[in-house]
Amino acid sequence: MTEEEVACLGKSRFYTRSTARRRSREIRREGGPRLRPYECEFCGLHHLGHRPGHATYLRHGQPIQETTK
Ligand SMILES: [Zn+2]
Repeated sequence: MTEEEVACLGKSRFYTRSTARRRSREIRREGGPRLRPYECEFCGLHHLGHRPGHATYLRHGQPIQETTK
């Protein structure tokens, strides 16, 4: 799995930072993880998540490990 796949392709896209921030608050209110909106270097839009390059991400509700070996 490449960094682009982890940081971009598997995630929801938001066209503006404010839209991403609003969704982040909704997720928190629903008891979900605290996610941080960030501008994607691959598609130029915004995603929610940990900063790109972080080892573990949530996708489809399952934790996945980035395998770089
Ligand atoms: Zn992206």
